[in-house]
Amino acid sequence: MSLLYSGASPDSAGLAGPLSPSTELPVARALFCSDLDRTLIYSAAALMLDGADHDAPSLQVAEILEGRPQSYLTNAASGLLTQIAEAGAFVPVTTRTVAQYRRIRFHGPRPKYAVTTNGAQILVDGVPDQEWSDSLGHRVANESAPLEEISAYVLLPIHSEWMLRLRDAEGLFLYAMVERENLPAETLTYLTAWCASRNWTVSLQGRKLYFIPSLIGKEFAVAEVARRMGGPRVVAAGDSLLDKNFLGTAFAAIRPSHGELEESGFEAKGLTVTKKRGVLAGEEIVRAAHGMVFGDS
Ligand SMILES: [Mg+2]
Repeated sequence: MSLLYSGASPDSAGLAGPLSPSTELPVARALFCSDLDRTLIYSAAALMLDGADHDAPSLQVAEILEGRPQSYLTNAASGLLTQIAEAGAFVPVTTRTVAQYRRIRFHGPRPKYAVTTNGAQILVDGVPDQEWSDSLGHRVANESAPLEEISAYVLLPIHSEWMLRLRDAEGLFLYAMVERENLPAETLTYLTAWCASRNWTVSLQGRKLYFIPSLIGKEFAVAEVARRMGGPRVVAAGDSLLDKNFLGTAFAAIRPSHGELEESGFEAKGLTVTKKRGVLAGEEIVRAAHGMVFGDS
């Protein structure tokens, strides 16, 4: 792999600190842009530790929710991820809102950039980038129907069979908690078509049905971050349908052998699929990314 990313960047403010030549860190050759939930971090219910308890890996807590541990990664994954972060080459990419993202704790330095709210926000040193959200908000307002129109439609009594409650993410998009067994495939089909004609995308993720303006996508925000960092090659990782375009447009992609991309049989050029599932797939993803970022595999 040619050396496209040496840490040099036209945006010098974006790469201060860990990339200082005096630290003798390995040079990153690519940028690791990764989804979080069920890709890097796992709730207790999602660990999928099927072997004997005494063979289970050591885990590190990655999130506290209401005073209790909520998400985990393996210690080995944490160590490798810390090295990627220390090289300034880790960008978290999540559908979580900013507030939900701020609960995540990784060892190592805070990444310079993070993508949250499914690409609607780019955090720079932990602070939402106003220029990105303003320009995206402007384009969404021009090209997609207003959120109120979508929410009024979803809240119609004819949808009450499957719709438990509707929430908005920072006023930018919607997600409904649904009763999946009451949500027929044909309903999903007409909802998708109705929303598409208003330039909104529908995506079912577990018990959450997302309604997102078509211009809000992880792939656009990742492209913007990569542009600001001088155009490194992107190694992408993700597990869900909301990660599909972001994985499809990356130089290389990694996905676990669980989740919606697995269920839909997602394949792409340069895609690596883990052998393991659950939190051990998370470790495999970080190990593969580490090899690609530092060129040691
Ligand atoms: Mg995920």
